Amino acid sequence: MTLLGPVEVRALAEKLGIRPTKKLGQNFVIDGGTVRRIVRVAEVTPDDVVIEIGPGLGSLTLALLPEVARVVAVEIDPALAAQLPLTVAQMDPEHADRLSVVHADALKVGVDDLPALPTALVANLPYNVSVPVLLHLLEILPSLHRGLVMVQAEVADRLAAAPGSRIYGVPSLKAAWYADVRRAGPVGRNVFWPAPNVDSGLVSLVRRDPPETSATREEVFAAVDAAFAQRRKTLRAALASWAGTAAAAEEALVRAGVEPSARGEQLGIADFARIAENRPRP
Ligand code: SAM
Repeated sequence: MTLLGPVEVRALAEKLGIRPTKKLGQNFVIDGGTVRRIVRVAEVTPDDVVIEIGPGLGSLTLALLPEVARVVAVEIDPALAAQLPLTVAQMDPEHADRLSVVHADALKVGVDDLPALPTALVANLPYNVSVPVLLHLLEILPSLHRGLVMVQAEVADRLAAAPGSRIYGVPSLKAAWYADVRRAGPVGRNVFWPAPNVDSGLVSLVRRDPPETSATREEVFAAVDAAFAQRRKTLRAALASWAGTAAAAEEALVRAGVEPSARGEQLGIADFARIAENRPRP
């Protein structure tokens, strides 16, 4: 397998006149060991249709192509999107027909923009939008059954945090609606060009059914957002405007079997589903 190293990444960027931008989270992996590790930990199979967000210069794409049925790569930067098929045709002609490039914003991409239904997500996500992109894909692509993403280390910790921990919060709860989420190892900053000023981490996701509830996903997420907008307050106080009054919040909590003096960080997503279900209707 031919992969991109530091020399190839810089040469490609220079050829395209690319000056990596922070705005688009453009830190390209220059280490073959890291992309091989990502593919191994992702546990993709030859039947998988992988969606990769932000393929950049193709570091991870080249490691994925020999292992899966297809890679659908969604890239926002037009120069990078146009170059990727050329890079792959040159470096791995045998598997080039497995690649589809979609020039789009991953935050807005819809299922109709994709040439095939992805079964797995494998991506070194753009760090400034990693959580919204992840949640958007989990929502619009029920066919995704697993994922392995690289994100900022702190975000990896938040996504995989368990109730009761200091960093547990909105990303942990919303991701848990869709999947079992685990940390899958650290990644140092020196495997990137340019090197970011934070470390990274791998996160693995395995799809599971959301908690059973008569509330909609939007209603459950609204309760989560309300609880964490004032995370230091008790749920009775934090959910007062969400429910109408503190008394209505208390009623919803009691009916949901949740102690009104508890705080949001102590609850799991199933608790929020019950709270949303018991919100007093006007
Ligand atoms: N996968 C490549 C690698 O590992 O070397 C590049 C990863 S780099 C961290 C993030 C990539 O996401 C960049 O190529 C950037 O242009 C792209 N990107 C940023 N925002 C995006 C968005 N909203 N939708 C799609 N791609 C985006």
